[in-house]
Amino acid sequence: MKARAADVRDISNRVVNILTGNDSGLDDSDEPFIIVAEDLAPSETVQLDKSKLLGFVTRLGSTNSHTAILARNMNIPALIGTEISEDWDGKLAIIDGYNACIYIEPNEDLLKTLDKKRIQDVQQRALLQDLKNKPNVTIDGTEIKLYVNIGNVSDVGMVLQNDAGGIGLFRSEFIYLHSETFPTEDEQFAIYKRVAEMMGGKKVIIRTLDIGADKQADYFQLPKEENPALGYRAIRICLTRKEIFKAQLRALLRASAFGNVSIMFPMIISLREVIDAKAVLEECRQELIAEGVNVGDVEIGIMIETPAAVMVAEQLAAEVNFFSIGTNDLTQYTLAIDRQNPSLDPFYDSHHPAVLKMIEMTVQAAHKHDCWVGICGELGADTSLTETFLRMGIDELSVNPGSVLNVRKTIRSLNLKG
Ligand code: PEP
Ligand code: MG
Repeated sequence: MKARAADVRDISNRVVNILTGNDSGLDDSDEPFIIVAEDLAPSETVQLDKSKLLGFVTRLGSTNSHTAILARNMNIPALIGTEISEDWDGKLAIIDGYNACIYIEPNEDLLKTLDKKRIQDVQQRALLQDLKNKPNVTIDGTEIKLYVNIGNVSDVGMVLQNDAGGIGLFRSEFIYLHSETFPTEDEQFAIYKRVAEMMGGKKVIIRTLDIGADKQADYFQLPKEENPALGYRAIRICLTRKEIFKAQLRALLRASAFGNVSIMFPMIISLREVIDAKAVLEECRQELIAEGVNVGDVEIGIMIETPAAVMVAEQLAAEVNFFSIGTNDLTQYTLAIDRQNPSLDPFYDSHHPAVLKMIEMTVQAAHKHDCWVGICGELGADTSLTETFLRMGIDELSVNPGSVLNVRKTIRSLNLKG
């Protein structure tokens, strides 16, 4: 009951707001809007009507949280850790994401100045359009795959618009966060098949359920934990609640007959987990074949996002086709810094030599076993490190849709032999 208290409070607030005429009316707003909130959970962010959402501003939140990542995926500005006020409601506002500020009821001059800035930004982005259909190749001829991270079918339009070579990370747990109860095998199949077909043969890497920690859905009835980031989450749930895992794996295998689908397991720490997860996958494949269902060839990969996985990477590489380095969690677990805690943002240093060393060790271990390696954490889009990653031998970068052309521009400007 304690764990449900937040939901009961949420529902009471909504009922009271509707009865007193204070309902935000977000669901039926005709106008584009900015959301100002105390905080936003990933489950709330995925429910927002994105067609009219211009940006959001929260008092709490950290730059490495999934809510901030979702904003980057949606290509909208988000301000976190901002002093907010209730009397902003209904007023005209401008978010300046570059300078991390919000202007309430701007005067004519400010409106003009910032509108000019906005137009310059649009023009700057338009220049990047020339890079469409160009290869991700350095001056000296080193080529790298450039993919995109998504959380939903509706993001595929942005993948194609930005000319990405594939999907390097489909965070499938957002399907679960969007749902009131466990999405069925058929419901998931329809989503994965659609994404695979829309991508027309380009690679689609779907990560299996990474629920837990900050990504909570009530119907899972997960226990309340003292340290959720170190808790019952992701592959740990899948390997112990096999019926949930199997519904997803069967849906993925069925979808693999309609495109180029790869399956990736998150939060791996041991060889045992990889072997067990592959065994469940094989069980599903055999079931489907016995049922006469078509199944395609799938590449199997794992996320490298724990120091444990880095240390046993050679063993893991012998079992899978690819690694994808989750630098968001790898930074959190290597530095022992909670990525959700905004007051630790100044300490959360994903450029820390220990994190970079982990990435390098992962690449070296993987390449000994013909296992290709990508980066799908936020660091993949950090162009100040693109050269470092290429020199380490990274094979793929998976970034938010809005960053593809910018990263391509950086890749094409590099000369690794120069
Ligand atoms: C990561 O940890 O870097 C990652 C890509 O996964 P997520 O951000 O969803 O935890
Ligand atoms: Mg992660």
